[in-house]
Amino acid sequence: MTQFRSACRPSTGLRLRVATVLTALACLLAPGLSGAGAQVAKDVFGSKTGPAPLQSRAIGSYARGCLAGAAALPVDGPAWQAMRLSRNRNWGHPELVRLVEQLAVGARSEGWNGLLVGDLAQPRGGPMLDGHASHQIGLDADIWLTPMPNRTLTAQERESISATSMLKDGVREVDPNIWTPAHAALIRRAAKFPQVARIFVHPAIKKALCDFAGNDRDWLRKVRPWWGHHYHFHIRISCPAGSTGCVNQAPPPAGDGCGSDLAWWLSDEPWKPADGPVKPKPPMTMADLPQECRMVADVQAQAPVPTNAPAPRPNPLPRR
Ligand SMILES: [Zn+2]
Repeated sequence: MTQFRSACRPSTGLRLRVATVLTALACLLAPGLSGAGAQVAKDVFGSKTGPAPLQSRAIGSYARGCLAGAAALPVDGPAWQAMRLSRNRNWGHPELVRLVEQLAVGARSEGWNGLLVGDLAQPRGGPMLDGHASHQIGLDADIWLTPMPNRTLTAQERESISATSMLKDGVREVDPNIWTPAHAALIRRAAKFPQVARIFVHPAIKKALCDFAGNDRDWLRKVRPWWGHHYHFHIRISCPAGSTGCVNQAPPPAGDGCGSDLAWWLSDEPWKPADGPVKPKPPMTMADLPQECRMVADVQAQAPVPTNAPAPRPNPLPRR
């Protein structure tokens, strides 16, 4: 961006007039790179309280993008309750919202009363002030591994209840007193949805799933070990049809992922503390996001949307 900014400074001295005109033209055609483009993207998107009233579209990639025409997951459904309502992150692409709803209802046949749902995305997606690198384009959802109680939680409880870790203290193994076949069956059910691209779980959970799977193992390919993810699992769906500018991740490597890859995750190697201080990355600016995210951020809401209002379904504009 530095380069662009200096290029947009007026030319001095006896530079060629034509160059000046061309530069001015280029700066006009790419407005705001030195102004609005320099804004920290998490500040812009973290302050949006309602969705962008546009055709539903995931724009960009999972950790660098935004979301137009988001739908809200209702905070209470027949088989789920959304948690941490104060964060206002129960928004997603309508396909993600539908998937979470279907998974929650289907979970009942796996012995679950219902699901506690963690973060999806902000009303317009984008980087968050805290918590996740991904979840930016409305295609990621965190599902708690704590079963939903048989009553409606109060808003206060949804802020304060802690999720349950599935791990035994101090080792990279699930705790057999907490982890159950119903947990494994739920993750398998999620992985079998064709629109699900990946599921992230702690390596100890992946190990438990490898042991659980028996001969039906294709779904394991989508379940990828990652740090964290022992209180919840993370569902990522593929770019929905019609999301021009949405970038899928490369498919996971072939195989069930229960061999050498998992062995590495269960070794000490990925858990070693870094040598010396880790320099934090500079925050993403608006110019780091796809150009269209500026429009998604700027478009006016049609009417004020109260935080966590029940699902105002997006009002689609005609397809171009
Ligand atoms: Zn997540």
